[in-house]
Amino acid sequence: MSQKFALILLVMLVLSACVGTQSMLVEDQPLKGINITIDPGHGATQAYDSFRIGQTGEREEWINLRVAKILSRKLTLAGANVLMTRTKDRDVSLGGRASMAIGHHSDLFVSIHHNGSVNDPSMDLPIVYFYGSGDMNPASVDFAKILIDSMRAEMAFQQQQAGAVYSDHLIYSSGTSVLRNTIDDMPGVIGEGGFFTNPSGEGRLKSKAYNKLEAEIYYKAILEYFDRGTPSATCLLPDSLEFIDLLRPIEFELDDGFGNTFFVENSFKVLQGGVQIQSNWDSNLGILTATPDSSFKKSVSFQVFARNLQGNAIHPIPFTFLTKAGYEWLSHEKWLEAFDEAEILYSQVIQSNGSSGSMEVDTLDSALHLYQLSLELQIVHPKARIAEEKILELLMKKQALVEDDLSGEIEAQQSRIKEYYPD
Ligand SMILES: [Zn+2]
Repeated sequence: MSQKFALILLVMLVLSACVGTQSMLVEDQPLKGINITIDPGHGATQAYDSFRIGQTGEREEWINLRVAKILSRKLTLAGANVLMTRTKDRDVSLGGRASMAIGHHSDLFVSIHHNGSVNDPSMDLPIVYFYGSGDMNPASVDFAKILIDSMRAEMAFQQQQAGAVYSDHLIYSSGTSVLRNTIDDMPGVIGEGGFFTNPSGEGRLKSKAYNKLEAEIYYKAILEYFDRGTPSATCLLPDSLEFIDLLRPIEFELDDGFGNTFFVENSFKVLQGGVQIQSNWDSNLGILTATPDSSFKKSVSFQVFARNLQGNAIHPIPFTFLTKAGYEWLSHEKWLEAFDEAEILYSQVIQSNGSSGSMEVDTLDSALHLYQLSLELQIVHPKARIAEEKILELLMKKQALVEDDLSGEIEAQQSRIKEYYPD
């Protein structure tokens, strides 16, 4: 129990001794002010999906929803603002789930799933997934570890100790859609509380009492995670700034989650475009000052890492700025430069040919963005048709790499080319 939590408890005990139990109920909201998105995986797939089903007919999406509903009630009682991405047996698109979580300004994203194995019904263990690499996503890993520890300690599995925390890049080379699309805004995990393809696993997962136990485990993990405080960094640059001067140091104000500046020594790190730059921590001021690499061309993004004394890491939300050159480039309508840069990235995507996972998706997204930018900057330009066709090609390539449903975007781009650029 943290000191702060103990103090709150003491104050509440004193208060309840004075004025009865009423204030105890009102004050006992450890998650007050915290926004959480609970995402019960899948939904309404019964008509066409013969995979997400156990031997006696229990479906994953039903289990997910039952656990999520119990968890949501518990979190709400504890004062959290809970958003459920679905509350019925219906499907919600993966992109829609991520947008909802971002719109809710979530402090944590928890996607509830259960596992299936087509070829090995003996599999019976819990898994918690985080996005990408542990180094780059430390806060999600912090929560994932708390969760897997209590799953292993308190739930029943045939391979109890085999339960583990894994990167979602082990499932898809570019990670899972919901975690990839929420990573820039909040920490998040996908929890797989056992296998419905295991006969005894299915038996347990069908039981309301076991669903309740699982919800209780998520609940306690969430309480413990937020009890450790969620440290954060704020970039000290005026909001009105149109571009960043990379010749000047950049400052971040850090909070350990308790309004203080107590962090683990040597846990500080600032990345610029994914590469570590020099930084210096002033514990008296609570300011981390970094020296940027001034060679960046048009835009630049920084991420701050540090860990508080309770063991929680900052979720490294990127701070993205235009450079002076980038600002001038955008304001002077340099469509050709955008197009040329898109062409360079396009050829990198073509050369890599599905080999390098999330790196390729990042490059592909940048190329898409630049082709689109060239068309925004100059609505009709001599290479517009090429840009439109490359956009279509990249969308189709992206569809093969990620599990998001891009069919709407692809169709729209096909008809755009057909209608606006007749042969
Ligand atoms: Zn699932």
